Amino acid sequence: MPRRITFRIALLYSAVFSCVLIFLNASVLYTLKYYLIYQSMKQVTVQSEVIASKLDISAKDMSSIPKDMVFSGIADENIYVKIFDSKGNIVYQSKNLEEVYIPYAINLGVPVKIDEFDKDLVYLNTKFKKDNSIFYIQVVKDMKNEYAFLKLLFILMFFADGAGILISFVTGYLVTKRALKPVDYMIKEVKEIDAKRLSKRLKVYGKEDELVRLAKTFNDMLDRLEESFARQNRFVSDASHELRTPISIIKGYIDMLDRWGKEDKEILEEGIKAIKKQTLEMENLVEKLLFLARGDDRSIKLEKDTFDLKEMAEEVIAEIKLIYEDKDILLKGESVNIKADKRLIKELLRILVDNAAKYTLKDGRIEIEIGNSDRAYIKVRDNGIGIPEEELPHIFERFYRIDKARSKETGGTGLGLSIAKWIVEEHGGEIHVRSKVGEGSEFTVLFPIDNDSK
Ligand code: ADP
Repeated sequence: MPRRITFRIALLYSAVFSCVLIFLNASVLYTLKYYLIYQSMKQVTVQSEVIASKLDISAKDMSSIPKDMVFSGIADENIYVKIFDSKGNIVYQSKNLEEVYIPYAINLGVPVKIDEFDKDLVYLNTKFKKDNSIFYIQVVKDMKNEYAFLKLLFILMFFADGAGILISFVTGYLVTKRALKPVDYMIKEVKEIDAKRLSKRLKVYGKEDELVRLAKTFNDMLDRLEESFARQNRFVSDASHELRTPISIIKGYIDMLDRWGKEDKEILEEGIKAIKKQTLEMENLVEKLLFLARGDDRSIKLEKDTFDLKEMAEEVIAEIKLIYEDKDILLKGESVNIKADKRLIKELLRILVDNAAKYTLKDGRIEIEIGNSDRAYIKVRDNGIGIPEEELPHIFERFYRIDKARSKETGGTGLGLSIAKWIVEEHGGEIHVRSKVGEGSEFTVLFPIDNDSK
């Protein structure tokens, strides 16, 4: 594959080069040709003037033209002169180009280029007056030397261009091949990377060119992939671990029921109650796992509506109070309208208020504040057990629980806050926590400004 690219680049390179060469050479030849024609016209003009002045001085009458003297001034062997009288009889004719006949009385005084008699000719006809008689002087130049020169130049250029194009192709091919060599290396290395060998990286060396940048980008991508793979693996193994406990408890109870439950009503009731509880917990866990998995593959679509946060907080408080009857839950603040996914924001509030209730001691006090300073916010405060400072950075991680024994007691899964964070971030907001062990915690959710719709 890279060979084909190399070939194509080299071909393109030499095609462009040959176009430039051909254009340059054609313009040189064209300009030179017209320059030579122009020079020849000048030459016939000068020659014609010289002959006229010599005739004027030397000839007494035209029948006795001192030919040698008059025409000794013709420097170029390819120049030829004819002198006609007014009736068109040739009075004088130089030796060369006898076979060429050009009308003498046309284009008077104007040099003309013609392509006749298989020759490239430039001629000038002029009228000349001597003792009341009229003569015509015709000076013709055969441009054979000039055209031979142009032809030679053309052949030279043709071969030079051919060699140039060939050299440019070969150089282009070699240079491109060398430049693309790292691509071969990359292909070989990348082929060895798969899900099990994600830790492999491309070696990056040399100057910061496109290929080095490509290799770095690829390595960065592998870093991200590896991290997300590891996260995914951790998630799966944590999830399986979490599911194992209720399953083994259920299995234990089923064994117990199988052995003694058929006869003993008390055992039967206890077993059914425990299995119910475990099943509920499992259902709860699986629901959360599904939510996070759908969140990860972005299949949850936000359905945004405008609603009052305070009203929603009241609903959530009413729900939580049914479970935690002994908790004192207070709602403060104003009505604030936001545009967000109602179902998800309710879930977020549930998680925060439920945690506040879970992690406060008996008769704990929970305060929910809704407001709008520069943006809409929710604060959930409690005077519960608090969170140690070193744990704060981790509490939003999946399956992270500070005290596993206590969480078992409260039925926590360690997924609540990671779901809360996902919901907040999906709405473009922020979630922060402040806490002190023994004094309580405060969770603050800030919504983005454009989410407010007052
Ligand atoms: P869980 O389902 O265990 O409550 P979360 O993700 O909701 O999981 O919370 C993670 C951990 O953060 C909990 O195990 C708990 O120790 C701690 N935490 C959360 N909210 C509070 C709070 N209001 N007060 C004290 N600790 C809390």
